[in-house]
Amino acid sequence: MNRVYNFSAGPSMLPFPVLEKAQKELVSYNESGMSVMELSHRSGLFTNIITEAEALLRELMQIPDNYKVLFTQGGASQQFAMVPLNLLNKSGKADFIHTGSWSKKALSEAKKYGETRVIASSEDENFTYIPDVDVTMIDKEADYVHITTNNTIEGTAFATIPDTGDVPLVADMSSNILSEQIDVSKFGIIYAGAQKNIGPAGVTVVIIREDLIGQAKDSCPTMLNYQTFTDSGSLYNTPPTFAIYMAKLVFEWLKKLGGIKKMEKINREKAAILYDYIDQSELFASPVKKGSRSIMNIPFIIPGRELDAQFVKEAQEAGLETLKGHRSVGGMRASIYNAMPVEGVQALIQFMKDFETRNK
Ligand SMILES: *Cc1c(COP(=O)(O)O)cnc(C)c1O
Repeated sequence: MNRVYNFSAGPSMLPFPVLEKAQKELVSYNESGMSVMELSHRSGLFTNIITEAEALLRELMQIPDNYKVLFTQGGASQQFAMVPLNLLNKSGKADFIHTGSWSKKALSEAKKYGETRVIASSEDENFTYIPDVDVTMIDKEADYVHITTNNTIEGTAFATIPDTGDVPLVADMSSNILSEQIDVSKFGIIYAGAQKNIGPAGVTVVIIREDLIGQAKDSCPTMLNYQTFTDSGSLYNTPPTFAIYMAKLVFEWLKKLGGIKKMEKINREKAAILYDYIDQSELFASPVKKGSRSIMNIPFIIPGRELDAQFVKEAQEAGLETLKGHRSVGGMRASIYNAMPVEGVQALIQFMKDFETRNK
Protein backbone atom coordinates (compact mmCIF):
# COMPACT_ATOMS: atom_id res chain seq x y z
CA MET A 1 0.00 0.00 0.00
CA ASN A 2 1.24 3.43 -0.92
CA ARG A 3 0.31 6.18 1.56
CA VAL A 4 1.63 9.69 0.96
CA TYR A 5 2.14 12.62 3.31
CA ASN A 6 -0.84 14.78 2.46
CA PHE A 7 -0.41 18.48 3.25
CA SER A 8 -3.90 19.42 2.02
CA ALA A 9 -5.66 22.21 3.91
CA GLY A 10 -8.88 20.22 3.94
CA PRO A 11 -10.14 17.63 3.52
CA SER A 12 -6.87 16.53 5.01
CA MET A 13 -5.07 13.53 6.42
CA LEU A 14 -6.84 11.28 8.88
CA PRO A 15 -4.87 9.31 11.48
CA PHE A 16 -3.85 6.01 9.90
CA PRO A 17 -5.04 3.86 12.86
CA VAL A 18 -8.47 5.50 12.47
CA LEU A 19 -8.67 4.53 8.80
CA GLU A 20 -7.60 1.00 9.63
CA LYS A 21 -10.20 0.65 12.35
CA ALA A 22 -12.92 2.02 10.06
CA GLN A 23 -11.83 -0.42 7.37
CA LYS A 24 -11.99 -3.34 9.78
CA GLU A 25 -15.47 -2.36 10.94
CA LEU A 26 -16.77 -1.23 7.57
CA VAL A 27 -18.79 -4.23 6.44
CA SER A 28 -20.11 -5.34 9.79
CA TYR A 29 -20.07 -2.85 12.65
CA ASN A 30 -19.88 -4.41 16.09
CA GLU A 31 -21.04 -7.76 14.67
CA SER A 32 -24.33 -6.21 13.58
CA GLY A 33 -24.01 -7.50 10.01
CA MET A 34 -24.41 -3.88 8.89
CA SER A 35 -22.09 -1.04 8.12
CA VAL A 36 -22.40 2.16 10.17
CA MET A 37 -23.65 3.75 6.93
CA GLU A 38 -26.57 1.33 6.93
CA LEU A 39 -27.60 1.75 10.57
CA SER A 40 -30.74 3.64 11.47
CA HIS A 41 -29.84 6.90 13.13
CA ARG A 42 -32.43 5.94 15.77
CA SER A 43 -30.86 2.53 16.45
CA GLY A 44 -29.19 1.70 19.74
CA LEU A 45 -25.87 1.17 18.00
CA PHE A 46 -25.89 4.64 16.45
CA THR A 47 -27.17 6.23 19.67
CA ASN A 48 -24.10 4.81 21.37
CA ILE A 49 -21.83 6.22 18.65
CA ILE A 50 -23.17 9.79 18.83
CA THR A 51 -23.38 9.75 22.64
CA GLU A 52 -19.82 8.55 22.92
CA ALA A 53 -18.57 11.03 20.32
CA GLU A 54 -20.00 13.85 22.39
CA ALA A 55 -18.66 12.46 25.66
CA LEU A 56 -15.16 12.09 24.21
CA LEU A 57 -15.18 15.62 22.81
CA ARG A 58 -16.36 16.98 26.17
CA GLU A 59 -13.57 15.11 27.92
CA LEU A 60 -10.87 16.14 25.42
CA MET A 61 -11.80 19.84 25.41
CA GLN A 62 -13.00 19.92 29.04
CA ILE A 63 -16.26 21.46 27.91
CA PRO A 64 -18.15 22.91 30.91
CA ASP A 65 -21.62 21.55 31.73
CA ASN A 66 -23.37 24.77 30.72
CA TYR A 67 -22.36 24.21 27.08
CA LYS A 68 -24.14 22.02 24.52
CA VAL A 69 -22.35 20.08 21.82
CA LEU A 70 -24.20 19.95 18.50
CA PHE A 71 -23.52 18.03 15.30
CA THR A 72 -24.80 20.03 12.35
CA GLN A 73 -24.30 20.01 8.58
CA GLY A 74 -23.53 22.68 6.00
CA GLY A 75 -19.91 23.10 7.13
CA ALA A 76 -18.43 26.12 8.84
CA SER A 77 -19.89 28.14 5.96
CA GLN A 78 -23.40 27.46 7.18
CA GLN A 79 -22.40 28.72 10.63
CA PHE A 80 -21.62 32.07 8.99
CA ALA A 81 -25.41 32.39 8.63
CA MET A 82 -26.55 30.35 11.64
CA VAL A 83 -24.63 32.51 14.12
CA PRO A 84 -26.27 35.82 13.12
CA LEU A 85 -29.67 34.18 12.62
CA ASN A 86 -29.53 32.92 16.20
CA LEU A 87 -27.66 35.70 17.99
CA LEU A 88 -28.14 38.97 16.13
CA ASN A 89 -31.50 39.64 17.76
CA LYS A 90 -30.98 41.95 20.74
CA SER A 91 -29.11 45.09 19.65
CA GLY A 92 -28.74 43.66 16.13
CA LYS A 93 -25.06 44.63 16.20
CA ALA A 94 -21.99 42.41 15.88
CA ASP A 95 -18.27 43.22 16.05
CA PHE A 96 -15.81 41.41 13.79
CA ILE A 97 -12.06 40.87 13.90
CA HIS A 98 -11.10 40.65 10.27
CA THR A 99 -8.07 38.44 9.65
CA GLY A 100 -8.54 36.82 6.26
CA SER A 101 -10.68 35.17 3.61
CA TRP A 102 -12.77 33.18 6.05
CA SER A 103 -13.52 36.07 8.38
CA LYS A 104 -14.54 38.03 5.30
CA LYS A 105 -17.08 35.38 4.38
CA ALA A 106 -18.40 35.26 7.94
CA LEU A 107 -18.69 39.05 7.92
CA SER A 108 -20.49 39.35 4.60
CA GLU A 109 -23.02 36.72 5.63
CA ALA A 110 -23.70 38.43 8.98
CA LYS A 111 -24.22 41.75 7.18
CA LYS A 112 -27.43 40.34 5.74
CA TYR A 113 -28.96 40.10 9.19
CA GLY A 114 -27.80 43.14 11.11
CA GLU A 115 -25.28 45.86 11.69
CA THR A 116 -21.69 44.65 11.53
CA ARG A 117 -18.55 46.54 12.43
CA VAL A 118 -14.90 45.61 11.90
CA ILE A 119 -13.09 46.53 15.11
CA ALA A 120 -9.65 45.26 14.07
CA SER A 121 -8.24 44.12 10.75
CA SER A 122 -4.95 43.06 9.20
CA GLU A 123 -6.14 43.70 5.66
CA ASP A 124 -3.67 46.62 5.36
CA GLU A 125 -0.80 44.12 5.26
CA ASN A 126 -2.44 41.33 3.33
CA PHE A 127 -3.50 39.50 6.51
CA THR A 128 0.08 38.55 7.39
CA TYR A 129 -0.39 39.33 11.08
CA ILE A 130 -2.96 39.21 13.87
CA PRO A 131 -4.14 42.67 14.98
CA ASP A 132 -4.20 43.69 18.63
CA VAL A 133 -7.61 43.65 20.24
CA ASP A 134 -8.51 44.93 23.65
CA VAL A 135 -11.76 45.00 25.47
CA THR A 136 -12.24 48.78 25.10
CA MET A 137 -12.61 48.35 21.32
CA ILE A 138 -15.71 46.24 21.77
CA ASP A 139 -19.22 47.65 21.63
CA LYS A 140 -20.72 46.63 24.98
CA GLU A 141 -24.11 46.43 23.30
CA ALA A 142 -22.98 44.06 20.56
CA ASP A 143 -24.75 40.72 20.42
CA TYR A 144 -21.42 39.01 19.81
CA VAL A 145 -17.82 39.40 18.66
CA HIS A 146 -16.59 37.09 15.88
CA ILE A 147 -13.04 35.81 15.42
CA THR A 148 -11.33 33.21 13.25
CA THR A 149 -8.84 31.65 15.65
CA ASN A 150 -6.68 30.13 12.90
CA ASN A 151 -6.58 31.59 9.41
CA THR A 152 -6.21 28.53 7.21
CA ILE A 153 -5.37 30.39 4.01
CA GLU A 154 -3.09 33.12 5.37
CA GLY A 155 -1.34 30.95 7.99
CA THR A 156 -1.94 33.20 10.99
CA ALA A 157 -3.40 32.36 14.39
CA PHE A 158 -4.32 34.18 17.58
CA ALA A 159 -1.63 33.50 20.20
CA THR A 160 -4.01 34.65 22.91
CA ILE A 161 -7.79 34.77 22.82
CA PRO A 162 -9.05 38.37 23.07
CA ASP A 163 -10.99 39.39 26.15
CA THR A 164 -14.45 40.52 25.07
CA GLY A 165 -15.82 41.24 28.53
CA ASP A 166 -19.50 40.31 28.78
CA VAL A 167 -20.02 40.21 25.02
CA PRO A 168 -20.14 36.59 23.79
CA LEU A 169 -17.13 35.60 21.72
CA VAL A 170 -17.96 33.47 18.68
CA ALA A 171 -15.04 31.59 17.15
CA ASP A 172 -14.59 29.87 13.83
CA MET A 173 -12.13 27.20 14.97
CA SER A 174 -12.37 25.03 11.87
CA SER A 175 -8.65 24.68 11.30
CA ASN A 176 -7.28 24.57 14.84
CA ILE A 177 -9.89 22.93 17.04
CA LEU A 178 -8.30 20.09 19.07
CA SER A 179 -4.79 21.22 18.12
CA GLU A 180 -4.00 23.09 21.32
CA GLN A 181 -5.48 23.56 24.75
CA ILE A 182 -8.14 26.25 24.93
CA ASP A 183 -10.42 27.45 27.69
CA VAL A 184 -13.93 26.84 26.33
CA SER A 185 -15.47 29.07 29.00
CA LYS A 186 -13.99 32.13 27.23
CA PHE A 187 -16.31 31.52 24.28
CA GLY A 188 -20.01 31.86 23.62
CA ILE A 189 -19.88 29.65 20.54
CA ILE A 190 -17.11 27.59 18.98
CA TYR A 191 -17.77 26.06 15.58
CA ALA A 192 -15.68 23.94 13.26
CA GLY A 193 -16.16 22.04 10.03
CA ALA A 194 -14.83 18.53 10.55
CA GLN A 195 -12.53 18.06 7.59
CA LYS A 196 -9.39 19.50 9.16
CA ASN A 197 -8.93 18.14 12.67
CA ILE A 198 -12.10 16.20 13.43
CA GLY A 199 -12.90 13.73 10.67
CA PRO A 200 -14.26 13.55 7.15
CA ALA A 201 -16.30 16.39 5.62
CA GLY A 202 -20.03 16.34 6.27
CA VAL A 203 -20.37 17.10 9.95
CA THR A 204 -19.84 20.39 11.76
CA VAL A 205 -19.24 20.65 15.49
CA VAL A 206 -20.89 23.52 17.39
CA ILE A 207 -20.14 24.11 21.07
CA ILE A 208 -22.59 26.66 22.43
CA ARG A 209 -23.22 28.20 25.83
CA GLU A 210 -26.76 27.39 26.93
CA ASP A 211 -27.93 30.97 27.40
CA LEU A 212 -27.30 31.64 23.69
CA ILE A 213 -29.81 29.02 22.62
CA GLY A 214 -33.45 29.89 21.95
CA GLN A 215 -32.92 33.48 20.82
CA ALA A 216 -33.64 33.03 17.12
CA LYS A 217 -36.59 34.79 15.56
CA ASP A 218 -39.67 32.70 14.71
CA SER A 219 -38.84 33.15 11.04
CA CYS A 220 -35.52 31.31 11.47
CA PRO A 221 -35.58 28.10 9.41
CA THR A 222 -35.92 25.05 11.65
CA MET A 223 -32.68 23.50 10.44
CA LEU A 224 -30.77 26.74 11.11
CA ASN A 225 -32.00 27.14 14.68
CA TYR A 226 -29.61 25.87 17.37
CA GLN A 227 -32.65 25.05 19.50
CA THR A 228 -33.68 22.37 16.99
CA PHE A 229 -30.38 20.61 17.54
CA THR A 230 -30.38 20.91 21.34
CA ASP A 231 -34.00 19.72 21.63
CA SER A 232 -33.32 16.64 19.53
CA GLY A 233 -29.76 15.75 20.52
CA SER A 234 -28.70 16.61 16.94
CA LEU A 235 -31.23 14.02 15.68
CA TYR A 236 -34.06 16.21 14.38
CA ASN A 237 -33.39 14.78 10.94
CA THR A 238 -30.88 12.24 9.67
CA PRO A 239 -27.43 13.39 10.72
CA PRO A 240 -24.25 12.54 8.76
CA THR A 241 -23.95 9.24 10.59
CA PHE A 242 -20.73 7.95 9.07
CA ALA A 243 -18.92 11.27 9.55
CA ILE A 244 -19.97 11.30 13.21
CA TYR A 245 -18.71 7.73 13.61
CA MET A 246 -15.37 8.71 12.05
CA ALA A 247 -15.15 11.74 14.36
CA LYS A 248 -15.67 9.40 17.29
CA LEU A 249 -12.75 7.25 16.12
CA VAL A 250 -10.57 10.37 15.78
CA PHE A 251 -11.52 11.46 19.32
CA GLU A 252 -10.61 7.97 20.62
CA TRP A 253 -7.28 8.15 18.80
CA LEU A 254 -6.56 11.58 20.29
CA LYS A 255 -7.44 10.41 23.80
CA LYS A 256 -5.19 7.38 23.46
CA LEU A 257 -2.36 9.59 22.24
CA GLY A 258 -2.52 11.54 25.51
CA GLY A 259 -5.19 14.15 24.81
CA ILE A 260 -4.91 17.72 23.61
CA LYS A 261 -2.02 18.64 25.91
CA LYS A 262 0.16 15.96 24.32
CA MET A 263 -1.17 16.80 20.85
CA GLU A 264 -0.28 20.46 21.32
CA LYS A 265 3.26 19.56 22.31
CA ILE A 266 3.67 17.46 19.15
CA ASN A 267 2.06 20.16 16.99
CA ARG A 268 4.35 22.87 18.37
CA GLU A 269 7.38 20.69 17.69
CA LYS A 270 6.27 19.98 14.12
CA ALA A 271 5.69 23.67 13.42
CA ALA A 272 8.92 24.76 15.11
CA ILE A 273 11.18 22.52 13.01
CA LEU A 274 9.53 23.71 9.79
CA TYR A 275 9.65 27.42 10.70
CA ASP A 276 13.24 27.07 11.90
CA TYR A 277 14.26 25.61 8.59
CA ILE A 278 12.34 28.23 6.56
CA ASP A 279 13.76 31.12 8.60
CA GLN A 280 17.38 30.09 8.03
CA SER A 281 16.86 29.09 4.38
CA GLU A 282 18.29 31.25 1.60
CA LEU A 283 15.63 30.09 -0.86
CA PHE A 284 12.40 29.89 1.13
CA ALA A 285 10.74 32.53 3.28
CA SER A 286 7.68 32.85 5.49
CA PRO A 287 5.26 35.66 4.59
CA VAL A 288 3.80 35.63 8.11
CA LYS A 289 5.01 37.80 10.98
CA LYS A 290 6.56 36.04 13.96
CA GLY A 291 4.13 36.02 16.85
CA SER A 292 1.17 35.62 14.47
CA ARG A 293 2.14 32.29 12.96
CA SER A 294 -0.18 29.33 12.77
CA ILE A 295 1.03 25.92 13.90
CA MET A 296 -1.48 24.23 11.58
CA ASN A 297 -1.11 25.98 8.20
CA ILE A 298 2.35 27.09 7.20
CA PRO A 299 2.62 29.09 3.98
CA PHE A 300 6.05 29.66 2.44
CA ILE A 301 7.31 31.43 -0.65
CA ILE A 302 10.36 31.40 -2.91
CA PRO A 303 10.97 35.14 -3.31
CA GLY A 304 12.26 36.43 -6.63
CA ARG A 305 12.25 33.07 -8.39
CA GLU A 306 9.72 31.30 -10.61
CA LEU A 307 10.05 27.93 -8.91
CA ASP A 308 6.67 27.33 -7.27
CA ALA A 309 5.22 25.01 -9.91
CA GLN A 310 8.44 23.00 -10.09
CA PHE A 311 8.55 22.69 -6.30
CA VAL A 312 4.98 21.45 -6.07
CA LYS A 313 5.46 18.98 -8.92
CA GLU A 314 8.71 17.51 -7.61
CA ALA A 315 7.34 17.33 -4.08
CA GLN A 316 4.37 15.36 -5.32
CA GLU A 317 6.69 12.95 -7.10
CA ALA A 318 8.46 12.49 -3.76
CA GLY A 319 5.19 11.55 -2.01
CA LEU A 320 4.52 15.00 -0.52
CA GLU A 321 1.02 15.83 -1.66
CA THR A 322 -0.94 19.09 -2.11
CA LEU A 323 1.62 21.72 -1.19
CA LYS A 324 0.34 24.35 -3.59
CA GLY A 325 -0.65 27.55 -1.79
CA HIS A 326 -4.21 28.82 -1.87
CA ARG A 327 -5.06 30.48 -5.18
CA SER A 328 -5.64 33.79 -3.38
CA VAL A 329 -2.12 34.00 -1.89
CA GLY A 330 0.08 31.84 -4.16
CA GLY A 331 3.34 30.24 -3.07
CA MET A 332 3.18 27.02 -1.09
CA ARG A 333 1.35 25.94 2.03
CA ALA A 334 1.97 22.96 4.27
CA SER A 335 -1.05 22.10 6.37
CA ILE A 336 0.19 20.02 9.27
CA TYR A 337 -2.93 19.17 11.23
CA ASN A 338 -3.10 16.69 14.11
CA ALA A 339 -2.97 13.64 11.85
CA MET A 340 0.28 14.69 10.14
CA PRO A 341 3.04 12.72 11.83
CA VAL A 342 6.33 14.40 12.68
CA GLU A 343 7.95 12.07 10.12
CA GLY A 344 5.88 13.80 7.43
CA VAL A 345 7.21 17.22 8.41
CA GLN A 346 10.75 15.85 8.56
CA ALA A 347 10.32 14.41 5.07
CA LEU A 348 9.11 17.79 3.82
CA ILE A 349 12.08 19.60 5.36
CA GLN A 350 14.51 17.09 3.87
CA PHE A 351 12.89 17.58 0.47
CA MET A 352 13.09 21.39 0.84
CA LYS A 353 16.78 21.15 1.74
CA ASP A 354 17.48 19.03 -1.34
CA PHE A 355 15.44 21.39 -3.50
CA GLU A 356 17.36 24.36 -2.14
CA THR A 357 20.70 22.71 -2.91
CA ARG A 358 19.59 21.88 -6.43
CA ASN A 359 18.31 25.42 -7.10
CA LYS A 360 20.94 27.62 -5.55
C1 LIG B 1 -12.24 25.29 5.93
C2 LIG B 1 -12.68 26.49 6.66
C3 LIG B 1 -13.97 27.01 6.51
C4 LIG B 1 -14.97 26.43 5.54
O1 LIG B 1 -15.44 25.24 6.00
P1 LIG B 1 -16.61 24.45 5.24
O2 LIG B 1 -16.82 23.32 6.17
O3 LIG B 1 -16.05 24.05 3.91
O4 LIG B 1 -17.75 25.35 5.11
C5 LIG B 1 -14.33 28.10 7.27
N1 LIG B 1 -13.48 28.66 8.13
C6 LIG B 1 -12.22 28.19 8.30
C7 LIG B 1 -11.32 28.86 9.27
C8 LIG B 1 -11.80 27.10 7.56
O5 LIG B 1 -10.55 26.63 7.73
